Amino acid sequence: MPHTEVQSAIDPVDKTVLDSSPKLTDSYGRRFPYLRLSITDVCNFSCDYCLPDGYSSTQKKSFLNGLEISNLVKAFADMGTEKIRLTGGEPSLRKDFSQIIASIAKTPGILQVATTTNGYKLKENIKEWVDAGLTHLNVSVDSLDPNLFHSLTGHNRLKEILSGIDYALTLSIKKIKLNAVLLKEINSHQFKQFADYIRERKISIRFIELMQTGDNFDYYKKHHVSAQILKNFLLSNGWTEKLREKSAGPAIEYVHPDYQGSFGVIAPYSKDFCDTCNRLRVSSTGDFHLCLFGEKGYSLRHLLQKPDQKDELKKLIVDSLRNKRKQHFLHDLDTGITPNLSFIGG
Ligand code: SAM
Ligand code: SF4
Repeated sequence: MPHTEVQSAIDPVDKTVLDSSPKLTDSYGRRFPYLRLSITDVCNFSCDYCLPDGYSSTQKKSFLNGLEISNLVKAFADMGTEKIRLTGGEPSLRKDFSQIIASIAKTPGILQVATTTNGYKLKENIKEWVDAGLTHLNVSVDSLDPNLFHSLTGHNRLKEILSGIDYALTLSIKKIKLNAVLLKEINSHQFKQFADYIRERKISIRFIELMQTGDNFDYYKKHHVSAQILKNFLLSNGWTEKLREKSAGPAIEYVHPDYQGSFGVIAPYSKDFCDTCNRLRVSSTGDFHLCLFGEKGYSLRHLLQKPDQKDELKKLIVDSLRNKRKQHFLHDLDTGITPNLSFIGG
């Protein structure tokens, strides 16, 4: 549902409820209008830095169902969450993905429904997701070279994914981004190819520095490189840093007058990266995570069963949020409990 319709759908009584709810702020004055919600750990790709051997699980997990997701989102929305990103694992593998989007889109207070996807079957499905209320789309594409894409992900589908993105550009999506993990000696020399791709496409390409997780230390050591190399490329080719909006997250945006698209740089290892943190996370089994690299999750699931548990749920969320640390400790090689990013949703 478009922004304005959502707003006008909130009647005065609902507004009072929203206003009297506790707000999502932490001990360092940061606000959290953005929730990343993992809806499955399962993934069909085997990206070298994430799930190199593909997804496997020793026990069958039961992921949050539609009702639990709806109760969760309503509680967060009451406390000021405006944007929900559905992630995973691969979120689009959920058979009820469109229903989940639709239920979130009609929650009063939610202005943006986003997803991060590997784009498998994007062309076949994107129209249905947009009709359901999806407003923002991120597709992960680490290389525009088909052979390299195949070897990185285990799937020879770059052509189909790019054609899905071109189709998405014709639909009423507010913003489309490409996510690429910056990988030394793998894609770190392909910036020009990415720039050519967005010359005529209104897409933001986000390069994310490779992060160390519990499982990928050797890969990380071999392929991590500072995003400074991308910044150097951009600055020496006429791109300029865009002024940050006050509420912007940690990405730094670069624009160029000859290009419709833009570049974004996400550098979690940079100084003060965590100062602009505006996001919280809930795992596919209902654990509340204060940081991608935190020590533990706070289980919310027992309070997601009935709508009348909402006040208790909100209290647990706000109380847990007091424990959010000022920053991650990745510099000390402390990755918290995160074995790979499919675990709590990257
Ligand atoms: N499967 C979906 C996808 O790949 O878009 C969503 C989940 S995936 C974990 C979310 C994002 O995290 C992807 O853009 C992926 O490239 C990124 N990612 C995964 N592992 C990472 C790592 N170790 N460092 C940086 N980014 C990572
Ligand atoms: Fe799957 Fe996304 Fe991880 Fe790749 S990055 S293995 S697509 S969860």
